[in-house]
Amino acid sequence: MDHSSQLVALNATIQPSRGMLFGVDAQALAACMVAVGEPAWRGRQLAEALYRQRVTELDAITTLPKALRQKLVAEGWQVGRPRIAQVFQSVDGTERYLIECSGGDGLTVETVWMPEGDDGEAGDGSDAVSKQTRGAPGPSHLGTWDSKESNLESDPEEVSGEGKTGQRVTLCVSSQVGCAVNCRFCLTAKLGLQRNLTAGEIAGQVVAVFDRHAVEVGRDRVNLVFMGMGEPFLNYDNFMGAVRLLVREVGLSPQRMTVSTSGIVPGIERFAHEPAEFRPKLAISLNAPNDQIRTEIMPINRKWPIQSVMAAVRKVKLRPRERMTFEYVLLGGVTDRPKDAAEVARLIRRTGLPAKVNLIAWNPGPGINYSTPQPEAVEAFRKTLIDAGIPTYLRKPRGRDIYAACGQLKRTVEE
Ligand code: SAH
Ligand code: SF4
Repeated sequence: MDHSSQLVALNATIQPSRGMLFGVDAQALAACMVAVGEPAWRGRQLAEALYRQRVTELDAITTLPKALRQKLVAEGWQVGRPRIAQVFQSVDGTERYLIECSGGDGLTVETVWMPEGDDGEAGDGSDAVSKQTRGAPGPSHLGTWDSKESNLESDPEEVSGEGKTGQRVTLCVSSQVGCAVNCRFCLTAKLGLQRNLTAGEIAGQVVAVFDRHAVEVGRDRVNLVFMGMGEPFLNYDNFMGAVRLLVREVGLSPQRMTVSTSGIVPGIERFAHEPAEFRPKLAISLNAPNDQIRTEIMPINRKWPIQSVMAAVRKVKLRPRERMTFEYVLLGGVTDRPKDAAEVARLIRRTGLPAKVNLIAWNPGPGINYSTPQPEAVEAFRKTLIDAGIPTYLRKPRGRDIYAACGQLKRTVEE
């Protein structure tokens, strides 16, 4: 049976390929059901099963009559959700997964699970600042900071009951296999771009890991950061397709999602037009105080220099209390000097945006000739930004022992 030709006429938003149902939204699933002679509401049952009950086999969908399940299987349909192929566990509780894509080409991507610290430290090492800034009542560091993406504007109480008794975790999700952007300090860049992930492969990382950890959406507080392998804004449609699936079908809030871009201006401009109900928060990988240094470490800056990125960023309509995040990788002796900090402070203040900065000390990778900044340089940098009135947090490296930290993804597979 040719699934795709049947669906074209039905104006479905995301269409199944090769009989894979995972990644298809409820509307298109309804169209699928109609195409096989079933009522449209069976599509809703399928969506429930795929995205809420997290089935991996069609036969497990007990809301569908047995005969229909058998018919779908006989016609070549399958769930086709990406599968966790390998797990690496860090001493700090972080888990890194190799996830096998559903495309049938044997490629894997990496996804990282980062539970918040349970030993009195804030997940990203920014506890002192965060407690002051937020003035959060109560005994707990929990809920104050996410582990990888510090989260000044998001109020842990904003989704009622969420996270009070459940798990608190940040999940770092990949958007492409490899990356074409070629930032000099990043290991993923060494792979080049192998291929884009589909919406189902992006959302599937989340659902597969939720399954492993028995995540209860609405009870557990999960933050998603699209900061794994790849440049989300060079795979825009699939990335946003995944976000819509995660919001509509899985039930996650876009305010608990952050997408990071190296500054792909046309992508930022499209993103600015997304409705708030499907728009994650935005983080820009600034990484340098000026165009000269940025071009050296991020050649993409030649195409879209800092001010063009800032002009695009200004078009994004922030929600109340939302801040624009700027990420800044500290490369020892290259971007971590006092004059760099002063220049970054001026640059960000001049944007006039409510902003915050996430500092990331560079994580080493084989064949990359930069050095990790000295702790004193990191502290001085942070202090300069804070003194300039910019909330600034230091992202704690998670899972370095299993090569799960920022910029380290894809080490094991290629070596
Ligand atoms: N491609 C997107 C998202 C993935 S990279 C982007 O570049 O924004 C996520 C973050 O990790 C970016 O801010 C990037 O600058 C940072 N990063 C890359 N390599 C790193 C490394 N070796 N050490 C620390 N941070 C790194
Ligand atoms: Fe790609 Fe981001 Fe790495 Fe740059 S930092 S090469 S954009 S993944």
